[in-house]
Amino acid sequence: MSLNGLDAKTFFEHEGGITYNDFILLPGYIDFSLDEINLETYLTRNLKIKRPIVSSPMDTVTESRMAISMAMLGGIGIIHYNNSIEMQAKEVRRVKRYENGFITDPVVLGPDNTIHDIDVLKETHGFSGIPITEDGTQNSKLIGIVTKRDIDFETDRTRKLKDVMTTQLVTAPAGISLAEGNSILKESKKGKLPIIDKQGRLVSLMSRTDLVKNADFPFSSKNKDKQLIVGAALSTREDDKERLDELVKAGVDIIVIDSSQGNSIFQINTIRHIKKKHPHVEVVGGNVVTAKQCKSLIDAGADALRIGMGSGSICITQDTLAVGRAQGSAVYHTAKFSKEYANVPVIADGGIAHIGHIVKALSLGASTVMMGGLLAGTSESPGEYFYEGGVRVKKYRGMASHEAMEKGGGKRYLSSEDRIKVAQGVTGTVVDKGSVINLVPYLIQSLLHSLQELGYRSIQELHSGIYEGTLRFEKRSQSAQAEGNVHSLYSFKEPHLGLLRMGR
Ligand code: NAD
Ligand code: IMP
Repeated sequence: MSLNGLDAKTFFEHEGGITYNDFILLPGYIDFSLDEINLETYLTRNLKIKRPIVSSPMDTVTESRMAISMAMLGGIGIIHYNNSIEMQAKEVRRVKRYENGFITDPVVLGPDNTIHDIDVLKETHGFSGIPITEDGTQNSKLIGIVTKRDIDFETDRTRKLKDVMTTQLVTAPAGISLAEGNSILKESKKGKLPIIDKQGRLVSLMSRTDLVKNADFPFSSKNKDKQLIVGAALSTREDDKERLDELVKAGVDIIVIDSSQGNSIFQINTIRHIKKKHPHVEVVGGNVVTAKQCKSLIDAGADALRIGMGSGSICITQDTLAVGRAQGSAVYHTAKFSKEYANVPVIADGGIAHIGHIVKALSLGASTVMMGGLLAGTSESPGEYFYEGGVRVKKYRGMASHEAMEKGGGKRYLSSEDRIKVAQGVTGTVVDKGSVINLVPYLIQSLLHSLQELGYRSIQELHSGIYEGTLRFEKRSQSAQAEGNVHSLYSFKEPHLGLLRMGR
């Protein structure tokens, strides 16, 4: 019996310039339940994660809050570098120090601070209890705590904290488990539980308000020391060598070299430099879209490749520079080459506009997907919400938009000829999508259903299906696409968060 549809090789060799919307995957045979599907995948040559999702190093997408949540949910976040070296290293450190349920960098004051200082902090941090240590820093001896009740009715706001703080403290020793801390918090009826070391120095803090949030995250991405893993972006400029060293000192696990066209002498030298100086750090090269570009970066030592040129939702590269590649073709050809040449995994970056694009990227050979726009507008993305036409939105912008380049202090521009800044991205807004803690599990559940419909129990099986020809592809005409979307209705209500139309 002849199989329907085409195998990937025939499909992609006959058709050029394929995007995710241009094809559909034909169903397979289901003989297993959703629970039997394993989504573990290689992010880089030497690093596996349990969920195939990565947040993009963009200044409206990934700082420590996003990176922590992505790692807790089984993926990883890449901290952007449109900031100072100190700021980027600090964001990396925050992720590395994070412990679920423990506030590892609490706001701390000293005995000679005043109630007024707390009033000021309240404006920026909101607050319910501030630990007081001997010298006002985290790693010194804990001597008290000031809570709302201690100062609410105090009219003299110049009074020193040593005169109003509570000194009868319930504390817990460093090293206790989340469950133990939670039960002490519940029994003590206090708002905050300071965690101290043997010398009585403040190590971290637990908060009653976090009790409900301290859920289990069984898929979290951690290293052997049980720290969350995190990546950071780096440019190929000479002075970013110092940035690299600081990121490594902060504990970064992966460096992602951030460039729209990775096949350059600058990037090859950067990869070689990182691999020589910090051989334990995994390096993601990119961006690339052709086999030849992949070969250059793999030969230089890249442990994974980031695929995509011109496919991002905020991107104008293809129109402005007329260089790039349709993302489906880019992912298929680069993944095939990299697997055959050196078994290097690829990350499909950009253009994940719909929930179903995730499985499509994986079905072309990508091991993970990187998302910008889909994760922007969540409560974990940097920036404030505001209203546009009555809709709650957040800003989302390209890293090569005029606005982002200006924020970076024009550091990308290396010579006087570069001073005319050609934007390759735009600034826009995306709708409020709530927390990634709810969004990502929805995306993952949908991915599990996709794999089940296709009849594959894992991403590795799916990849075998691509190269053995069991995974079948069919071209989608314009009218097939229209038919596959909601049609013929006067109005309808979208499922979860309008995810179907998020990218439009
Ligand atoms: P880039 O840093 O790679 O390049 C900027 C310019 O600097 C280029 O002309 C490059 O050749 C030059 N350059 C880099 N290192 C150099 C060195 N050591 N010496 C001399 N010249 C050097 O950045 P980019 O490609 O402009 O990308 C900027 C940002 O925009 C990145 O965040 C990137 O991810 C994003 N972007 C992505 C895409 C995409 O399709 N994926 C497209 C455009 C922009
Ligand atoms: P999205 O997920 O479709 O929104 O695309 C995100 C990807 O777009 C990023 O991971 C980058 O590869 C790419 N990108 C980021 N900034 C720019 C830009 O200014 N121009 C073009 N592409 C960009």
